[in-house]
Amino acid sequence: MDYTEAKQRIEQLRAVLWENSRKYYVDNAPTMSDFEYDSLMHELEALESAYPEYVSEDSPTRRVGSDLEDDPSQEGAGFAKYPHKYPMLSLANTYSIGEVEEFAQRAVKALDTQFTYCCELKFDGTAICLTYRGGKLFRALTRGDGVVGDDVTENARRIANIPETLSGSGWPEEFEIRGEVLMPYESFDKLNHEREVNEEPLFANPRNAASGSLKLQDPEEVGRRGLMCTLYHIPTGQVAFPTHDAALQAAKDWGLPVSGERRICRDIDEIEAFIAHWDTARKALPFATDGIVIKINEMAFQQQLGYTAKSPRWAVAYKFKAEQACTPILSIDYQVGRTGAVTPVANLEPVFLSGTMVRRATLVNEDQIRSLGIHEGDWVYVEKGGEIIPKITAVEPSKRAPGAVEPVFPRCCPDCGTPLVKPEGEARWFCPNTTGCPTQIKGKILHFLSRKAMNVLAGEATVEQLYKRKLVFSPADLYQLREADLLQLEGWKQRSARRFLQSLSDSRRVPFERVLFAIGIRYVGETTARDLARHFGSLEALKAASREELLAVADVGAVIADSILAYFQVPENLRELDRLREAGLQFSLEKESSRLSDALAGKTVVISGNFSISRDDMKALIEAHGGKNSSSVSGKTAFLLAGAKPGPEKVKKAAELGVEIIDEARFYELVGDHRPMPGNTSGPEETEPTLF
Ligand code: NAD
Repeated sequence: MDYTEAKQRIEQLRAVLWENSRKYYVDNAPTMSDFEYDSLMHELEALESAYPEYVSEDSPTRRVGSDLEDDPSQEGAGFAKYPHKYPMLSLANTYSIGEVEEFAQRAVKALDTQFTYCCELKFDGTAICLTYRGGKLFRALTRGDGVVGDDVTENARRIANIPETLSGSGWPEEFEIRGEVLMPYESFDKLNHEREVNEEPLFANPRNAASGSLKLQDPEEVGRRGLMCTLYHIPTGQVAFPTHDAALQAAKDWGLPVSGERRICRDIDEIEAFIAHWDTARKALPFATDGIVIKINEMAFQQQLGYTAKSPRWAVAYKFKAEQACTPILSIDYQVGRTGAVTPVANLEPVFLSGTMVRRATLVNEDQIRSLGIHEGDWVYVEKGGEIIPKITAVEPSKRAPGAVEPVFPRCCPDCGTPLVKPEGEARWFCPNTTGCPTQIKGKILHFLSRKAMNVLAGEATVEQLYKRKLVFSPADLYQLREADLLQLEGWKQRSARRFLQSLSDSRRVPFERVLFAIGIRYVGETTARDLARHFGSLEALKAASREELLAVADVGAVIADSILAYFQVPENLRELDRLREAGLQFSLEKESSRLSDALAGKTVVISGNFSISRDDMKALIEAHGGKNSSSVSGKTAFLLAGAKPGPEKVKKAAELGVEIIDEARFYELVGDHRPMPGNTSGPEETEPTLF
């Protein structure tokens, strides 16, 4: 390779790695396997060491991948940011035992004395740094870019095994402890099942789900996601323990969640035995692990070896290759979703993979079947990870039966027989029979009842029973149900029937924005429904809106606008809406919650920090007084509303741009709201109750 070629390849690798780093850390939706990513990173490292003139401080080989969101409109952009006391680095990693041996040889040579290794599981989640002050949880930060992290304290408080208060004695007045937030397989399967029912994009793996959940702006929802935490590192210098192992033992005694699955090893043979044991044993763990971390155990030797720009020299991660299984396809189903999209799903000979039994894998769409070259009855490789779970990554051609044929993608709906259509620009086929196709009908009812829509206590089985008994064909039919109807259904008793009817009745109070989401206009998700509800105020106004008026709503583009217009053109939809209105559902924003005053009309406000009310309530209050919320300070910001512990970056930016910074009390004066302020607003750790 000559110099020009090397330079080109280096630039190409850097671009690919940064792009995939963003997909992985910020979007939580990687499209490349870790193995592939690591191979490209190692190629780049090798090129940079062969051509040192092209080394750059900006290279992904020198910086940890950042989880900080730079797009202000995205999830994660609204968190306050704080610097880490000690940088949060990555780990040197390898997939080769030979390289672990080289690490051990280097350590023996450099230290030239007796020492030990502490071998631990490499937990596959998202890193977190907890600070305890005076024995209480003070702050939780994500790794961020390694130097500055997002303040996710409120979310961390909702993770069941993170203690609010330490137990035992002897903890330092203030110290940081680091670890991983994980989503156990059970919580992960539950969450993805819920998302499948709601036709929301699935999380590719528990790591992405954990990291996406930790960055939610809704702590209550974080609490529902069943996350857990495991801690594995107290930065040197904060506690006086001779070894890393002793520090972890002390942390455990203080009530912190520390895994007991670690071993002190004296040499490479013991390290290899530990790796070999966990290569198999990890499959029985209730959460994901992706390797073994080997650390020099003595704190003094850790300090002696120090750090590179990206990782400690006293540790290395041995990574397990993503688990794969090879299994035959038994059949292919073509599933119709509530929007009519038809997805091919392979039924597999059940196979155990990364903690769960895999029976089915999506084949995404017709093009994917063709590009993998799948034939009926083929043996296929299945992997968990990457884009979709579980994923078929390849076909094993040697096992193909003679005469095997390619599957025929149906041209008619497998459920109702209506000819399928493939709209321009869509990779999927759709059943256009939106009001008559049984699967679409049941899917729509299920969506209508779901937690983020009408939040009625009912699931798939109930909907199936109601539909089968010809009691319910559309959401409006639900409100006609009587106790006697429900008692005809198998397994229903008076208590369950009354509970269901009560829950339906309660749903009449669900606010308009969620009703709008529940009725299931294609492309109108939760956020769009909220924006539309706030913009138009009522269903009548939305129905009367022209294409231009719809396009004037932030984030509503041509696809959504056309879908809304098309929805109101269908007579069955209009009849259904009339019936829902008659059933007493909220078809407009309540006067009070929509507008309290015009005090902030035309003003864009940025909030930062914690208030005497939740951040979401504060944003709603700003809108109720006519203001608009934004997550980043710019020249257009009217003022920065700073609560307790505002984000230092926002404060700095406001000061630079000359944007006024006001506190909560001043805000209430400004909008003419005379609510009493609590005496103490010094921060979440004092004002917020602990949930666990
Ligand atoms: P890493 O995940 O390889 O290792 C470092 C991390 O391991 C630490 O930050 C910590 O969070 C975690 N960890 C878990 N258990 C630990 C323990 N017992 N002790 C210490 N740390 C422990 O490194 P990274 O910087 O977080 O991520 C880089 C890796 O992410 C890459 O090697 C690649 O595999 C993956 N990645 C993949 C893509 C993709 O597109 N697939 C993109 C970017 C990164």
